[in-house]
Amino acid sequence: MKSVRLDGKEIFPSKIICIGRNYVAHIKELGNEIPNEPVIFIKPNSAISTDIHSGEPDEIHFEGEISFVVRSGEPVAVGFGLDLTKRELQSDLKAKGLPWERSKAFDGAAVFSEFVTFNGQVSALRLELYINDHLVQQGGCKLMMYKPDEIIAEVKSFLSLEDDDLIMTGTPAGVGPVNRGDRFTGRILENEDLIVEGSWVVG
Ligand code: ZN
Repeated sequence: MKSVRLDGKEIFPSKIICIGRNYVAHIKELGNEIPNEPVIFIKPNSAISTDIHSGEPDEIHFEGEISFVVRSGEPVAVGFGLDLTKRELQSDLKAKGLPWERSKAFDGAAVFSEFVTFNGQVSALRLELYINDHLVQQGGCKLMMYKPDEIIAEVKSFLSLEDDDLIMTGTPAGVGPVNRGDRFTGRILENEDLIVEGSWVVG
């Protein structure tokens, strides 16, 4: 089983629950329709990685996302996550009405910073993603169509959350390709205070 780190200790999420189309500006950037309920998909434990791989010859896109560890059905810790996506393949699968797993659930498709216990204001959480020191994505709970508590309630309405499962809350505008050698820095902030950050060089 793959692991992530929570307050310096390894935990083993059984699954990652991902939300699609949760920021209006990103929905427009991909030319998608605004959903009338949360778009939910799952990445398996095997998708978890501590490294970003360029995925050549496939083009992989990054999606920076505020991510949570869930215990007893509640978010208890926060981290920065990258929902890596084979965008062209996903577009083909979407056009054919097929499941997205080949484009979203491959090995290495879910990269996370360390998670830290969070007792602050979830509504004040936001993310920043820098590539080679340029800010490429920013957003936060205030801009989400479905807030973390609504996402969790919706998920629990049809599937069981195990302790240490992860939730990825969707990506703001600014997604783009992952290139070998790029340096990614993802930050989670509560208002202006840095909560946790992760840094990776694409291999
Ligand atoms: Zn995503």
